[in-house]
Amino acid sequence: MKNSRGIVVRPKNLREVQKYLRRANKQKIPIYPVSTNKNWGYGAFMAKKSILMELSGMDKVVDYNEKLAYVTIEPGVTFKKLYEFLEKKKSNLTISTIGGSPDSSLIGNISERGIGKGVYGNMYENIANLEVVMPTGEVINTGFGNFGLDKLASISREGVGPEITGLFTQSNFGVITKLTLWLHPKPKYSQLTTFHANTARTLEKIIDAIRVLKLEGTIEGNFLIANEIRALSCYIQYPWKEMDHKTPLSSKQLEKIKKRLGFVGKWVGQFVLGASSKMILKGKRERIREVLGKITPYLYFNDQNDPFEKPSDFAIRSCYWRKKTTIPKVMDPERDGCGMLWVSPVVPFIGRDISIVVKFMEKIMIKYGFEANVGINCITDRKLYIIGSIVYDKDVKEEHDRALKCNKEILEGVYMCGYFPYRLNNFSGNELLVAKGGYKGLLRNLKKMTDPKNILAPERYQF
Ligand SMILES: Cc1cc2nc3c(=O)[nH]c(=O)nc-3n(C[C@H](O)[C@H](O)[C@H](O)COP(=O)(O)OP(=O)(O)OC[C@H]3O[C@@H](n4cnc5c(N)ncnc54)[C@H](O)[C@@H]3O)c2cc1C
Repeated sequence: MKNSRGIVVRPKNLREVQKYLRRANKQKIPIYPVSTNKNWGYGAFMAKKSILMELSGMDKVVDYNEKLAYVTIEPGVTFKKLYEFLEKKKSNLTISTIGGSPDSSLIGNISERGIGKGVYGNMYENIANLEVVMPTGEVINTGFGNFGLDKLASISREGVGPEITGLFTQSNFGVITKLTLWLHPKPKYSQLTTFHANTARTLEKIIDAIRVLKLEGTIEGNFLIANEIRALSCYIQYPWKEMDHKTPLSSKQLEKIKKRLGFVGKWVGQFVLGASSKMILKGKRERIREVLGKITPYLYFNDQNDPFEKPSDFAIRSCYWRKKTTIPKVMDPERDGCGMLWVSPVVPFIGRDISIVVKFMEKIMIKYGFEANVGINCITDRKLYIIGSIVYDKDVKEEHDRALKCNKEILEGVYMCGYFPYRLNNFSGNELLVAKGGYKGLLRNLKKMTDPKNILAPERYQF
């Protein structure tokens, strides 16, 4: 089959992946692997006259172990499919869900070191036993899988000797055809915790408090603190009529919408507090109240029977914010010309640093005539990802060009402050980073050795 840039192939198994790679080698044609190809907001970089290898047809859960809490999956296994699989098994294990499409692939997401919600939200940290087809067609495993030690392969990321898992994410060294994903058991007791912040100063204090709560282990895993536009755009589209078809949204209008929807505060954060006993849950809740309650009066705890969300397309609605057409039942932002560019700098988990970067990103988005759409992902105990979303109508060329300029200015600005995105979109990045000589040389040599004809995703994450 052909797409606008070249041919699309859809292997059904490992052998076919090998076959296509060998053929690409023979004919010296660039070949780009994707899993479900829904990398919306970041995009799939492809050269002209190339092959797109879509792995969605390889969609088996090939191993499942309830006791050791893991599954081994192929690239076509989506968030929705894995959720349904576990439901069917009446499993006590949960998956981390994302704001992206439920029909997107876990392996596709992990290949980009994507992030989900909850205890294992840093999904890249919870993988083992990758099966990878090298550009020349050989198959390798990572960890103990390399030595045929199958009993150990899925429970230990590292084997003995050099650990190579990381080589295959955000890179062009191989095609991942299988991996083991560790899952977290459902806690016996849980509560949904919600807090609001009205000012930048309160947000700063909240961030510092959350760092303390995370480092000491009271709060675990990743969760999002969304600003008002990020949160509201999941519920409504841009109020074109009320704004007399002008952009960007005025603060007066924003306040009106917030009032209408009963939205309090400028920022809202939400996470699930889990525990194995009522006493532990109570202890955690009291500790959070003690620390966060001092900073914001808007702190709520709600009992949850099943705190673990089904993968949902709710947040995809936000892609349609600036579209004038109504949101279709089956959403596909790519098909529908929704413009969205994510800019996602990594920043230290320090309130002041976050505040400076957020303010800067908001300022630039507004300068270019977009709404300041920002979320903060509390991904680890030491770093945060600030995720700015430039949302626009891609069918309006002028808006697209403006969005690219805005993206560039944010990226350059955060880079000047010493920060950089955890992941790159199609329109940014490589040129800003200058890899130091030794690292650059090593990567270049590795690429030459494993992909002598440079056919696998040329230029992807190459510095
Ligand atoms: C509203 C909205 C919310 C979103 N929320 C989130 C979120 O919470 N967290 C998040 O991480 N992302 C989020 N996204 C971004 C994106 O949609 C997800 O990351 C999604 O999982 C990526 O799509 P995919 O799984 O189909 O990956 P693909 O498009 O299949 O793959 C992405 C890239 O990874 C590489 N790749 C894929 N498969 C392989 C393979 N088998 N071997 C080697 N390389 C491979 C390729 O370079 C490919 O271009 C969001 C997007 C939108 C629009």
